[in-house]
Amino acid sequence: MKPDHECSAPGSSSASTASARFDALLRLARRLSGLSICGVATFAGGDEPIQLEPAPPSSIEEALSPLIAHARISQSPLLIQETTPCPEPLICFAGYPLRADTGECLGVLYLAGTTPRSIDADLQLSLQDIADSVAQIIIQAQAKTEETLLALAIQGSGTGIWDRDLSTGRIHYSAAWKSMLGYAANEVSNRIEDAFARIHPDELEQVTQSMQAHISGQTEQYQVEHRLRCQDGTYKWVNSRGKVVSRDAAGNALRMLGITTDISKVRSLSERLQHNIELITQLTDQVPGVVFQFCSQADGTGHFTYLSAGVRDLFEVTPEQLQQNPTLLDSCVHPDDLEVFNQSRAHALSEACIWHIEYRVQLPRQGLRWHLGEARPQCKADGSIIWHGMVTDITERKHVERELHEFASMDALTQLANRRVFMAYLKTEQARIQRRDVSVSSLLMCDLDHFKLVNDKWGHGIGDRALRHFSDILRAQLRTSDLAGRIGGEEFAVLLSGAGSFPARDFACRVQHALASQPLRVDNQEIHLTLSIGITQLAQQDPTPDNALSRADTALYRAKQNGRNRVEIT
Ligand code: GH3
Ligand code: MG
Ligand code: MG
Repeated sequence: MKPDHECSAPGSSSASTASARFDALLRLARRLSGLSICGVATFAGGDEPIQLEPAPPSSIEEALSPLIAHARISQSPLLIQETTPCPEPLICFAGYPLRADTGECLGVLYLAGTTPRSIDADLQLSLQDIADSVAQIIIQAQAKTEETLLALAIQGSGTGIWDRDLSTGRIHYSAAWKSMLGYAANEVSNRIEDAFARIHPDELEQVTQSMQAHISGQTEQYQVEHRLRCQDGTYKWVNSRGKVVSRDAAGNALRMLGITTDISKVRSLSERLQHNIELITQLTDQVPGVVFQFCSQADGTGHFTYLSAGVRDLFEVTPEQLQQNPTLLDSCVHPDDLEVFNQSRAHALSEACIWHIEYRVQLPRQGLRWHLGEARPQCKADGSIIWHGMVTDITERKHVERELHEFASMDALTQLANRRVFMAYLKTEQARIQRRDVSVSSLLMCDLDHFKLVNDKWGHGIGDRALRHFSDILRAQLRTSDLAGRIGGEEFAVLLSGAGSFPARDFACRVQHALASQPLRVDNQEIHLTLSIGITQLAQQDPTPDNALSRADTALYRAKQNGRNRVEIT
C-alpha cells in the first residue's frame, strides 16, 4: 500500500536525504575542480532565478548573470578562465546548465575560484556528471512538491484512496479514507469481506455488480454512489470510483486502485433541492388554475419553461403539448376575443409591463369558459423576458357578475328593464337625437286600465301574474333596438329607436290588440286587460328627456280621459 500521495514534509527523512546528496555533490565538484566556490541557481520559470544554493559570495553575484543567461540558451558549459571586473579577481569560472530530460533548463551549476586552474576534458566530463545528478535531485524535489500539493488537494476534497489486491482478497485504505469515515488508523481491517460489510444493504447488490462488471472487463471503470458505514454507526453517501491497474496474462484482474469521495453534502443539497421542486410542483398543481413561467426572446419567439398540471383543466391539453407548441393556447381563445388577447400580449411584451386580461376560450369538452390571465415580467440582461404568471377560470365569477348586473338593472317581477336603466337609456337616446346620430325616436307611456279592480277582484297574486302576462305580450312586440321598462306599479314605458309617430302608433295598436286577444286565464276564467298609451317623439330642442316624458304623460292622461284603451299622440 502506498500512502495517500502524502509526500515528505520539509525536514522529513527523504527531504534531508536529498539535501545531503545535494551537498555531497557540491563538495565533490569543489574537490575535483579545486575551485572554492560552488553553487546552484535554479529557475522558477521566466527569467528569475528562484534559488541560489548556497548563497554565493557577493564578489561573484555580478559575474553569475552571463552564466545563467548562457545556460538558458545553450546545452554546453561556459568556461571563463580570466574575469577582471571583480574586486577579488576570479581567474577561473565555469557554468554547467542543469537540464531536464525534456530539455527544459532548470538552472545552472556554477564554480568559481581565484586559484589558476585549467579545466581539462576529464574534469569537464566529471563536472557534467555532477551537474546531471544535481538536475535529477531538483526534478525529484519538484515532483515531490507537486505530489504534496495533490495530496493536500485530495485531503481537502474529502477523498480517500483504496488499493485492492484481488489475489489475496486484501484491501488497504489511505489515512484520509479512514478519517473521512471517522475511523482511526488501526480501526479498519484489510479484509475485503469487512469492506463489503460496511456498504449499506440497499446498495450492496449494485456495488458488487458494478465492481464485478469492471473486473470482468465489461466496463471502462467502476463507479457507484452508495452509503458507507462510519465508525459511529451512521452512514455517509460516497462516490466510489476505481480501475483495475494490473491483470495476469490470462486477463484476470490482480490489482485495483480507487478513490472514495464524500458526497454527503452534495447529496443532502440535491435532496433538499428535489424536495423543494416537489413542494413547488405539488403546490402549483393544487392551485386552481395554471401557474406558468414563459420565456420570451428578443426576436419575438418564446416557450413555456414551467406549466402546472392545471393546463389540462383550463386548456384541455397536457403541459407537454403546450410546452412543445405554445400557439395551441391561441387556438383555444374565442375568435371574438383573439384580437384583444393578442394586443394585450404584444403590449405587455413591448412595454415589459404586467399582463392582465379577461378573455373567453372555446374548449372541445367544456365549451365556452372565461379566463383571467396575469403575468409579471422579469427582464434579463440578454434581452429576453421571463414571465411569471397565472391563468384562472373565472366563469363562475362572470356568471355571478352578470346576475348581479341583471339584478341591478332588471325589474324582478317582469324581467323588463327597471326605471333606473330605462331612464339612463332614454338619456343616451336623447343625446343621440341631439347629435343627429339617429333621426327620430318615439317614447310610449303605457298604463293598464282599472288595474286596481283586477287586484280587488282576483287578489294581489293574480295581479302580479297579470303584470307578467302583459310584460310577455309587450316583449314579444319589441325589436332588438327597442327597449321596454317598468316605470311604476302598472306603468310601462317603451322607447322605439328610429321610429316616427306612425310606426309608433302601429306598435301601440299591435300591443293593444295582442293584449285584447290574449286574456289571462285563471281557473278556466279569463281576465281581460286593456291599456292606455300616450306617444311623443324625442325632440332635438328638448334640453332633457324629461320634456319628452312629460309630453308622453300628457298624452296618456288624455287617453285615460277620453275613455281608456286608447292611443293618443302629442
Ligand atoms: P287607471 O285606469 O286610472 O290607471 O286605474 P288604475 O286602477 O289602474 O289606477 P290606480 O293608480 O288607481 O291603481 C293602480 C293599481 O295598481 C293600484 C295598485 O294596487 C296596483 N299595483 C301597483 N303595483 C302593483 C304590483 O306590483 N302588483 C300588483 N298586484 N298590483 C300593483
Ligand atoms: Mg297608473
Ligand atoms: Mg292604471
